[in-house]
Amino acid sequence: MKKLCFLLLYIFSIPAFAQTNSLKSAISKKADSLQSKIVAWRRDFHEHPELGNHEFRTSAIIAKHLKVLGLEVKTGIATTGVVGILKGDKPGPVVALRADMDALPVTERTPVPFASKVKTMYNGRETGVMHACGHDSHMAILMAVAEILSSMKSELHGTVKFIFQPAEEGLLPGEIGGAEEMVKEGVLENPKVNVIFGLHINSQTEVGIIGYRPGGTMASVNDLQIIVKGRSAHGAYPWSSVDPIVISSQIINNLQTIVSRNLNVTENAAVVTIGAINGGNRSNIIPEKVEMLGTLRALSLADEQMLIERVNQIATKTAEAGGAIAEVKIPYSLHYPVTFNDPGLTMKMLPTLQETAGTANVILRPAVTGAEDFSFYQEKVPGLFFFLGGMPKGGDPQTAPSHHTPDFYIDESGFALGVKALCNLALDYMDSNSK
Ligand SMILES: [Zn+2]
Ligand SMILES: [Zn+2]
Repeated sequence: MKKLCFLLLYIFSIPAFAQTNSLKSAISKKADSLQSKIVAWRRDFHEHPELGNHEFRTSAIIAKHLKVLGLEVKTGIATTGVVGILKGDKPGPVVALRADMDALPVTERTPVPFASKVKTMYNGRETGVMHACGHDSHMAILMAVAEILSSMKSELHGTVKFIFQPAEEGLLPGEIGGAEEMVKEGVLENPKVNVIFGLHINSQTEVGIIGYRPGGTMASVNDLQIIVKGRSAHGAYPWSSVDPIVISSQIINNLQTIVSRNLNVTENAAVVTIGAINGGNRSNIIPEKVEMLGTLRALSLADEQMLIERVNQIATKTAEAGGAIAEVKIPYSLHYPVTFNDPGLTMKMLPTLQETAGTANVILRPAVTGAEDFSFYQEKVPGLFFFLGGMPKGGDPQTAPSHHTPDFYIDESGFALGVKALCNLALDYMDSNSK
């Protein structure tokens, strides 16, 4: 009886696995055959970059592509966002896949024939515009994923939501947008998203490599403003002042004890940076006030809350000890949560990444103290955000131009792996959650 049960189990399990495996081999073949199309999309985006909330040409190209594929398409979400919905013929969960669309105010210096020559005014200054973070590759990769998965509609157990998001790189003061606004405008609803996957190409990781990390992967950001209010006096008679410059210097030094004394450094990294200090205008006048601007980075919500609390305490109490008042605003104008990869989901999907890239090519990477607004989706639904190699094979990560610089360069031969990884993640998640 036991043997018969095993036999029946075996027989019934063959078609499901065989089907997934045949879909995966079809995905692999299609991804390879789409390479020249993906490169053409990417080069076109690269040559015509648009800053955050201005991705009008970009989003029109994407919307047209998704419509041609037969997807249900919504446009104008959070200004220029595009969402395509692919309903598989079989019931199952809703998987969201996300790409960001915006370029940066950077003047390109690469010798590639499709280098950007676009110029614009940004913050009152003329600047070049460049896809200097690789979001052009993310869009091209996700367009290919949409093309491949929509050709398998009849086999899909569930729905795939393709999210093309504007303004990942941050906003000008007073602007709204990016992932936070996409979430507010309901991008994770109708149909309700169960899980989200996203990737970032990396110019200092070799082509063929996938980097991942469970838990805190990229940091939260809280920018801060501290205003120290003292009493002005002649610089020759400091005893009649409450000197906000001396008090500010004490605050800055005291803030640097937070990471070294309050943070459990064996668990996570964190950063406290004061990046601007403004006060006074000549040598012999003690000013009335000083303004400091800074940024806090943390890799867990608990650490983030601790940093905010300690900065408040240290700034106000240090000022009080000197007879001044410190007014602290955190966040001042910018807040991103931690890009937190759900540990259970990450470990569950790791075999999919390993199968796609080869186990040796999937590496556990250190956390990053930079930030990503993919974190806003992960606040609402479990998500996995991973890194895709974009540095030419044999390159040196130390000297490869980093993101956000005029020489930023991506090796296009790495795109197919990104396409396969996102397709397989969607497929495996739907398959394992639809029974
Ligand atoms: Zn960036
Ligand atoms: Zn980026």
